[in-house]
Amino acid sequence: MQAKKIFYSFFIIFLVLSLTACSSTLPDVAKKDVTKEEQKSNEVHTAHWSYEGETGPEHWGDINPDYAACTNGKEQSPVNIEMSKVIEDEKIKDLDINYKPTGFSLSNNGHTIQANPQTLDNSIVVDNNEYKLAQFHFHTPSEHQFNGQNFDMELHLVHKDANNQLAVLGLMIKEGASNPYLEKAWNVIPTEETTEDVKLAESIDLMNLLPKDKDSFRYNGSLTTPPCSEAVKWIVLEEPIEMSKEQIDKFRKIFPDNHRPVQSLNEREVKEDD
Ligand SMILES: [Zn+2]
Repeated sequence: MQAKKIFYSFFIIFLVLSLTACSSTLPDVAKKDVTKEEQKSNEVHTAHWSYEGETGPEHWGDINPDYAACTNGKEQSPVNIEMSKVIEDEKIKDLDINYKPTGFSLSNNGHTIQANPQTLDNSIVVDNNEYKLAQFHFHTPSEHQFNGQNFDMELHLVHKDANNQLAVLGLMIKEGASNPYLEKAWNVIPTEETTEDVKLAESIDLMNLLPKDKDSFRYNGSLTTPPCSEAVKWIVLEEPIEMSKEQIDKFRKIFPDNHRPVQSLNEREVKEDD
């Protein structure tokens, strides 16, 4: 009998304790749940695009009405450039590139590494229209394809004219010799998303980055990231430049894959200057 009594006393004490414990922890649990819900809804509100899964390229158009062109656009980039279908056009003027040594700062915007010039001294002239360099950034693997083949990386030099129309100069990058002109930037490449740019100690002369042969493919396309806005003049240089395996790997450690797949050409033609 005594043992039973003791057992019941302990049982009641345990019950009271656990109930108290429950009631005292309940509000906390509820609070935590609310916080989690808030976090969840915040995540949905700030839901951003990415290169994989539910926020990947196939879904960009659904993420935000402003990104509709990503799904509905008929002149999207990048594209596969099929050499046999490229039209040689003698009327296309040689590309006029005016780059000079310039100070840059680097940012990691969560999608790529971007270099922002400190002056507007760099420009290109396309179809008699001057476009000033706004920024340059990188993708891996390349976004454009030549005959269905991707390169290891692609460099995009984004230019704007006086009316904010865009012209992007695309450079294919293949694994090869170390690129000395990007080494200084690569040494301080921001591995985490930045809130403040990392200023480069030395200037970069982008002229040095360009291949010898400036022959280019031309077509009308879009931004390759949301909002995928069209009316972008694309100039894709035919000759690739090189970066070392180490340099490419360093970028891929931060962004293993930040390329949009090729889009349908639809009615468009890719032309070539000659
Ligand atoms: Zn790009």
